[in-house]
Amino acid sequence: MIICGHQIEHGEKKRIAIAVPDANPIEAFLFCGAKEGRTLAITAGVHGCEYVGIETAHRLSESLDPALMRGNVILLPLVNAGGFLAGAKQVVPEDGANLNRVFPGEINGTLSRRMSYLIEHTVFPYADFLIDLHGGDCNESLFPLVFHPGAGSPAVNACALEAARSLSVRYLVRSTSKNGLYSWAVQRGVPALLIERGSGGSWSEEEVARCTEDVMRIMSHLDIIDGDYPPVEQVEISLTTYLEAEFGGFWYPEVTAGQHVRKGDLLGTLRAYPNRQLLRLYAQSDGVVLYYTTALGVRTGDPLVAYGIQ
Ligand SMILES: [Zn+2]
Repeated sequence: MIICGHQIEHGEKKRIAIAVPDANPIEAFLFCGAKEGRTLAITAGVHGCEYVGIETAHRLSESLDPALMRGNVILLPLVNAGGFLAGAKQVVPEDGANLNRVFPGEINGTLSRRMSYLIEHTVFPYADFLIDLHGGDCNESLFPLVFHPGAGSPAVNACALEAARSLSVRYLVRSTSKNGLYSWAVQRGVPALLIERGSGGSWSEEEVARCTEDVMRIMSHLDIIDGDYPPVEQVEISLTTYLEAEFGGFWYPEVTAGQHVRKGDLLGTLRAYPNRQLLRLYAQSDGVVLYYTTALGVRTGDPLVAYGIQ
């Protein structure tokens, strides 16, 4: 059969390179299952400092066994290798753009836009489902969660939400994003999820094990592999409030990820730089802190706290 434009036989694994004009190619692995079935695309490292997903995908590139699969896997374990190697948070260092904000791309655009164009045209046509592995960045702390899309058709959104319920992450957050890898995938008809685990520029064996389990849960949900994963109690977030810095300066958070807050609780204090103007941020409703910025220094527009209402 043909996957991503490459001939591949049942039971076979192939390492391929997605050529990017005037740049290094994107590495990908194709796993063609021994039997027919659905095709799952897995991407990691769109943001180069979100290490749990990157290390998980790196290991999966060696451990996934097509002989045990009904269906196929397309794995892009390190999409933004330049950002990973440079330790550049959130951006593709060559053009300074956030790759998860430039979909759909264009073949003659900046590097990020060329990459997004090629991912869409090489991977999306072959995928029945897509998961994009992320985490909090090196300046953030985050409680494990999954973003499920609102940008697709009702059927595609529902398919993604049903799969999200098979995961082990506690919080299910409906996304309003439209220009990210997974949110563009759903607009192209591919049900997709963005899974967030780990943060703070670190990773652990336990987090990689949990992330790997979530990938296996999705593969089991899609019937690509056998698996018996008991459901985990989850919370569906109906509304998320994203607070951003009104000005640059010093940021003093007063919450931790996963903490429940009540309306009126102090979330943190922003002190402007170079003047000393103070802004105290209070919760406008009861909710749970999904992630927050740990960095002391923030720019205007940087995210500070995201909290969700159940
Ligand atoms: Zn990310």
